[in-house]
Amino acid sequence: MLRGGAAAVLLCATGFGATARASCFDVRVPAFVELRPLVAQNPTRALSEANARLAALPNDAAEHDLRTVAALHAIQAGAYEEFTLTDRQRAAALAGLALLHDPTDPLRLELLAAYANSFTSPAAIARALDQIKQARTLLRPGSRSDVCLEITQGLMNTLRDRSGLAIRELTQAYMQSEAAELSGAHDQASGILALALRSMGDDREALTFNRQAIQWDQAHQASEDLSQDIYARGEILRAMGSFDSAIAALRQARAVSASIGDHQGVAYSDLRICEAEIGLQRYAAARRDCERAAPVLTAGKVVSMIKETNAQLAKIDLAEGHPGSAVRILDQVLDKHGADMLAASVAPAYLARAEANAALKRYSAAYRDLTSYLQLYRRQNRASRARLREALEVRFQVKQAFERNAVLRRKLQAAAHQATRQKQLLHWMEAAGVAGVLVIALLSYIVVADRRHRRQLVRLARHDPLTGMPNRGHTVHLATAALTSALERSHPLTVALIDFDYFKAINDQCGHAAGDHVLREFARLSRGALRTSDILGRWGGEEFLLVLPEATLDAALATIERLRLLALGIQIPFPSQRIDLPRVTFSAGLATTADGPRTLDELVASADAALYEAKDAGRDVVRISRARNQNDPEKRLA
Ligand code: GH3
Ligand code: MG
Ligand code: MG
Repeated sequence: MLRGGAAAVLLCATGFGATARASCFDVRVPAFVELRPLVAQNPTRALSEANARLAALPNDAAEHDLRTVAALHAIQAGAYEEFTLTDRQRAAALAGLALLHDPTDPLRLELLAAYANSFTSPAAIARALDQIKQARTLLRPGSRSDVCLEITQGLMNTLRDRSGLAIRELTQAYMQSEAAELSGAHDQASGILALALRSMGDDREALTFNRQAIQWDQAHQASEDLSQDIYARGEILRAMGSFDSAIAALRQARAVSASIGDHQGVAYSDLRICEAEIGLQRYAAARRDCERAAPVLTAGKVVSMIKETNAQLAKIDLAEGHPGSAVRILDQVLDKHGADMLAASVAPAYLARAEANAALKRYSAAYRDLTSYLQLYRRQNRASRARLREALEVRFQVKQAFERNAVLRRKLQAAAHQATRQKQLLHWMEAAGVAGVLVIALLSYIVVADRRHRRQLVRLARHDPLTGMPNRGHTVHLATAALTSALERSHPLTVALIDFDYFKAINDQCGHAAGDHVLREFARLSRGALRTSDILGRWGGEEFLLVLPEATLDAALATIERLRLLALGIQIPFPSQRIDLPRVTFSAGLATTADGPRTLDELVASADAALYEAKDAGRDVVRISRARNQNDPEKRLA
C-alpha cells in the first residue's frame, strides 16, 4: 500500500522515483480484486474501465451494488493517485466513502487511506492523520486493518518530516504484522520502513528491511513490487558506494520493469545504472545508459529527473575532458538554483560545475560554485546527521521495548562517533573556505582525486584483473566474515570448490585467449545467478571458491546446477571450421558447516577432498564431502 501520490513524494524525496503497490487492506469486493492490480500496471486503463463500469450501472442501485460502486471509486482514486491528480483522487475517495457506513469495512478503510494520502500540505496531513487515528480506535489493535492504517500514518508522518514518529509507527507495524503473520502488511511495512530509513541515511538497516520485502515479493510473484524493491536495493547500495552490487541490482530491477512493460521504471533504472557507472569511472558505459534514459524521461516530463540525467551527462563530459560542454549543460540544470531538482542532487551539480570551471581556468566562477556547494553540503549534512541520530534513537527505544537493544546501543555509539568526525571535517572545510579561491579549488580537487585514487587502489588490491572477481586473499577475507557470522547465528553455510574440466585441453586446442574468455564469461554470467550475499572468488588458475551463506546442501546443489548450465552455454571463440569444440564443464566439491567443520581451512580442505573424488569419478560431477554423504554418496549432474 505504498500508495502512488503520497508515496511518490516520499519516493522522489529519497530519489526513488514514483511507484505504486497493491492494496494492504483485505478488500474482497470482486470489482476491486479484479481491477486493483491494473492500477499499478496501467492506470489509464484501470481508470477508463472503472469509469465505463460506473456509467453502465443503473441509477436505482441495490444495496449490494453500492459496494461495487464504492470499489470502482476506490479504483478511480488509486489511478488518480498514480497521476498525482490529488484533487480528483480526494473527490473519488469521498464519493466512495459516502456510500459505506460500517467503520470497520476494509473497503471503507482503503478509501479513507486514499483520501488521507491525497493531502500534501503539512497542516492538511495533520488533520487527515486525526481521522486515521479516530478510525483506528474502532479496530482491534494488531488486526490487518489496524496495521495497514498504522503504515498509512507512518507514511504520512514521513511526508510531513516527522521522521521519528514515522519510524516508530512503521517499526511497530513491522513487528505487529510479523507477530500476527500478516504477510502482505508485513511486506508493506518493511518496504516503507526501508524507504523511510533510507531517507534518513540509515543504509544498513534499510538494506535489511528491503531484503525482506524482496523475499516476500518473490514468494508472492508480485512483479511490480519486486521491480521497485530491487530498484530500492540498488539505490541503497549505490548510496553506500557498492557500485558493482548496485548495478547488478538495478539491472535486475530494469529487467523486471521491462517484463511488465513499465517504461518509466526501465528509464529510472538506466539513469541509476549510469550514476553507478560514473562511480566506477566507466564513462562510456555510463553515457550509453544515461542517453537511453533521457528520451523516456523527457517524454515523461518529470523535470527533476530530466535535470538529473543531464547533470550526469555533464559529469561524463567533464571526466572525458570536455569541461566547456559540461558547464553549458550544468548552467541549464542549475538555472533556478536547482529549485526544481531533488534536494540531494543540487550540491553535487554545483561541485561538478566548480570542477569544470576550474578546468577552464575560470576561477572566480569556480569559487562561486564551490561556495554554493559548501553551503548546501553543510546544510544537508547537518540535517541528515540530525535525522540519522533521531532515527537511531527512536528505533532504539522501540526495540528496547521488544528487549533487543544490545546491537542498537553499539550503533548509537557509532553514530555519535561518526557525527563527531563529520563535525571535524566540516570545521576543516569551513576553515578552508576563508583561505581563498585557489586553495579551495585545489583542496576539493585533491579530495576528489584522492578518493578516486584510493578506491582504485583498494579495488586493484582485492580483485583479480582477468575476471574482476575477488582474488584469493579477498575471498578468504569475505568468506571468513561470512563463516563467523553464520556460526554466531547457528545458520548453515556451504562452500564449493569448482575446478574446470580439461582446461589445459581448451587452452591447447583453442588458444590461451579462449581459456581467458571462458574464465571471464563464467565470472560475468555467474554474477547474475547468485544472491548478493553469495561469494564467488577466484581461488587460483581455473579454480573458484563459492561460499553460500544460509544455504543447505540442497540449496547449494541447486546453485551449482545453475552455474553448471551457464558454463555449458559458454561459446568458445574459435574459427568456424572446427565443429567439435569442447564443451565447458566443471567438477565441484561441497562441504557444509552442518557436518562439523568450524574454520574456513577445514571447510575448504573437505571441499577439496570432495573435488578430488569428483574428478576421479569422471568429471562434470559434483561430490559432497564424506562426513555427510553416507546415504548420498554422489550426485552426478549431467
Ligand atoms: P582437470 O579438470 O581434469 O583437472 O584438468 P585440467 O586441464 O583442468 O587440469 P588443471 O586443473 O590441473 O589445470 C588447469 C589449467 O588451467 C592449467 C593452466 O594452463 C590453465 N589456466 C590456469 N589459469 C589460467 C588462465 O588465467 N587463463 C588460461 N587461459 N588458462 C589458465
Ligand atoms: Mg581443471
Ligand atoms: Mg585446476
